Amino acid sequence: MTYKTMILGFPRIGENRELKKALENFWSKNSSLSELETTAKELRKKHWLEQKRRGIDLISSNDFSYYDNMLDAAVMLNAIPKRFRDIENKTERYFAMARGNNNASAMEMTKWFNTNYHYIVPELNDEIDFKLDAEKIIAEYREAESLGIKTKINIIGPLTFLALSKTTNDKDSYDYLGTVVSVYKQLFSKIAELGDDIVVQIDEPIFVKDLSKQRLPLIKGVYNELSHVNENVKIIVATYFEHACEAVKELTDTDVWGIALDFVYGRKNIDALEYLNGKTLIAGVIDGRNIWTTDFGKTLKLLEEISEKAPKEKIIISTCCSLLHAPYSVRSEPQNEIKQWLAFSIEKVEEVALLGKLFHESQLSTENTQSLEQNRKILDNKSNSKLLSNEHVAKRLNNIALTARVGDFNERITIQKKRLNLPLLPTTTIGSFPQTPDLRKIRLDFKKSAISSDAYELEIKKYIDECVSFQENIGLDVFVHGEPERNDMVEYFGELMNGFHFTQNGWVQSYGSRCVKPPVIYGDVSRPNPMTVKWITYAQSKTNKIMKGMLTGPVTIINWSFVRDDIPRSVIAKQIALALSDEIDDLQNAGIKIVQVDEAAFKEGYPLREDNIRDYEKWAVDSFKLAVSSAKKETQIHTHMCYSEFNDIIKTIENMDADVITIETARSGNKLLNIFKQIGYKNEIGPGVYDIHSPRIPSADEFKEQIGQRLQVLDSSKMWINPDCGLKTRKWEEVKSALKNMVQATLEIRRQYINR
Ligand code: GLN
Ligand code: ZN
Repeated sequence: MTYKTMILGFPRIGENRELKKALENFWSKNSSLSELETTAKELRKKHWLEQKRRGIDLISSNDFSYYDNMLDAAVMLNAIPKRFRDIENKTERYFAMARGNNNASAMEMTKWFNTNYHYIVPELNDEIDFKLDAEKIIAEYREAESLGIKTKINIIGPLTFLALSKTTNDKDSYDYLGTVVSVYKQLFSKIAELGDDIVVQIDEPIFVKDLSKQRLPLIKGVYNELSHVNENVKIIVATYFEHACEAVKELTDTDVWGIALDFVYGRKNIDALEYLNGKTLIAGVIDGRNIWTTDFGKTLKLLEEISEKAPKEKIIISTCCSLLHAPYSVRSEPQNEIKQWLAFSIEKVEEVALLGKLFHESQLSTENTQSLEQNRKILDNKSNSKLLSNEHVAKRLNNIALTARVGDFNERITIQKKRLNLPLLPTTTIGSFPQTPDLRKIRLDFKKSAISSDAYELEIKKYIDECVSFQENIGLDVFVHGEPERNDMVEYFGELMNGFHFTQNGWVQSYGSRCVKPPVIYGDVSRPNPMTVKWITYAQSKTNKIMKGMLTGPVTIINWSFVRDDIPRSVIAKQIALALSDEIDDLQNAGIKIVQVDEAAFKEGYPLREDNIRDYEKWAVDSFKLAVSSAKKETQIHTHMCYSEFNDIIKTIENMDADVITIETARSGNKLLNIFKQIGYKNEIGPGVYDIHSPRIPSADEFKEQIGQRLQVLDSSKMWINPDCGLKTRKWEEVKSALKNMVQATLEIRRQYINR
């Protein structure tokens, strides 16, 4: 059998998020396990047939998961942490590992490389009894087989599995390599029994990272062993999100059958081709994680370049990564000019199938020639569309007078201190207050025009009033309006700026049953009208305390959107920055003295390869500085970031030069703060003292303890007291008590300082 086309993996959540709904019904005990299983089975069948019908040769099984593929791999290896081991029912145990239960906390979850998908972090130690559990893998293979589809089996590779695991003892996760590989060998023996020539796709995305000198040579040994388990099993080592040149070199003398390389996000993979050594190349040329229609002309050219270095008959056309990161299909999107430019998973499957024909068939059918012409037409139409470019934006971009704010930090802070007149250790929050079901309903009703804009405005103002009076009552120092008008910190701004498109059904799995619907940035970004001024000035009019303006920064907006690929990200970032700088100017002219620009996703956008970091840091910092360039010396700029690990990026943070940065440290205490002290960080810091991810309400004494710890590292005259992040996911009762305790603790500590 020769294969021409392949998909690295297909989304499992369902065209209408059926899996999400089935999971949530099951979790809330509104449906039975067998109902959940039926839905899952129907989805798998539909997804396989969608690919088969379109002519894909290698379709995956085991790309399905009830929660996450890393968790599935942990179960396959029987890497069950002790606290879950006495749960006998397998399904119950699986979901307990993912979500926790009354007795055991959930396993940790973290970002999958530089995507917005989260995986469950396996926990390893000497108590783990590694042994094979192949039930899921075998069952899914058989299920597809009974539908007449011989699937390729997807499995996370041992080196990636270990690299992304954590140990709960003092060992390195790679100390378990031997044991883990022996389980994979058993698995392959088992798979060999399924039939002849079974293709197994082993995902090793860790191969695209800068691997250490110790880890790189392990690749050869492991894949030598695995490729000789049984000749019935053909191994594809799949890499994605970047180039994997070093790893391919290691694989060159092994007998793996194929290597999947990403040519969309790792052009440098061209250099890896000389090491293929007769192996099949799975050429990832269709973008699996963005949503634009592929340019067939360009892609065919790229394939030609590739086939100069790799024999054409050994090239399989593929997506560059799993389609897990793309929405389902554009077919349910409403008609508009943008729709035709989009390709989601189903359309990408069609693209792979067509490209397979265009590349491999010597004689093109009329139908294929027409498709090619059609593609050209769509792309021409796009590049000529008035929607893409905006003269005014271009002009402004070419005439940027001020790239950063005037005045250095010392000068600014002196002026600000006088003007703001805040006490020692000022207290504040990060922006949002609890989002109640009532509030969501009001926004939805307004969107559906079920309530008038007057009625809507009244309700939002009522919420703001309550936030203000609550903050007055507990005696916070710097207020926020609570963000009741915002559904999401990116979507809110996207909806108010030009250049953004919102899909109706473009959902992508974020973790478990949770999905996000990222905005699509298709054109030049500009701000037709002020976006926040009305609400912030209203809130300010209700108090004599200082009301903080609240914006989302350019890097975060970009990292949480699907962005156009016809201009560099650095340019998009500048466009957004200019829009934000106008907003800041409007806010300060309206009397707002502090503006916070959130960069929640600043760190997660970091490139996977060392080589690209400088470039990213440059445009990320530049765009932040440009965004706040309009702020006068007396306007205080805050930024907020949702993490605590700043060791690697501290210099970059320093370069952003925000007057105040609020960060997440409630769980890590003061240990990760040392870096700020070490480098002599001059600007002010608000290290989070309240873990907003937990419903727990810390007592005033606990807050005092937390604040005391921070004061051992930070200078009291530069420190703020605040929660880790926004409070939108918490309940009002929790927030009220917790913030009250936070303020009380601060008052006591402040008194001690003053009496000293
Ligand atoms: N201002 C936002 C809020 O408070 C920040 C959220 C975030 O950083 N993720 O909700
Ligand atoms: Zn945050």
